[in-house]
Amino acid sequence: MKILLHMCCGPCSCYPVRKLRADGHVLTGYFFNPNIHPYKEFKRRLDTAVEFAEKVGLDIAVDKNYDLRTFLRRALSAEKREETLTEKPRCRMCYAWRLHQAAIYAKENGFDAFTSTLFVSPYQLHDVMKEVAEKIAQAEKIPFFYEDFRVGWDEGVTICKELDLYRQPYCGCIFSEEERYNNRWKKENKKKMKKLREQKILMDNV
Ligand code: SF4
Repeated sequence: MKILLHMCCGPCSCYPVRKLRADGHVLTGYFFNPNIHPYKEFKRRLDTAVEFAEKVGLDIAVDKNYDLRTFLRRALSAEKREETLTEKPRCRMCYAWRLHQAAIYAKENGFDAFTSTLFVSPYQLHDVMKEVAEKIAQAEKIPFFYEDFRVGWDEGVTICKELDLYRQPYCGCIFSEEERYNNRWKKENKKKMKKLREQKILMDNV
């Protein structure tokens, strides 16, 4: 299958690219991440995604637009609209924006399906992303290729180190940059990782 792989960053691309290629798919990477803040970090992640693509011989399309103001406007209005939800409404918006853009690009450029490296991260709201991607696929009439890549999270970290890629310390937006210093979030993330390992959704790289 000819798949457009939305790349949230270089490190998260390591396992999905290896796995999808091993399964016989033909991939093109697509960098579209207006959520990343500040500009220096955006540029660094973009450069790392390109560096990764070069190192593994992956075609990549890059959107260099740094659209901080639109991101903030959308994020704040999502939070305001859905402040009663327990999940982070801004993340749902953030997934939807990026996945929708990937779906449109895939459709316009003759791909069989789209997916995202976001599905490797144990820190993301996996089920929310899946639901969002499925709705976009239906609306845009382009298949969404689903695979739970989290099983290869540890393997991806190993590949990333072997390729000597920059690994970022926070998800991307200014809010996640704040949260990385927040003890409550740190504890919640630790608990989440432990649970995923117990459920064997996250597997140790042996
Ligand atoms: S935490 Fe990550 S997924 Fe959520 S809004 Fe920020 S950058 Fe997007």
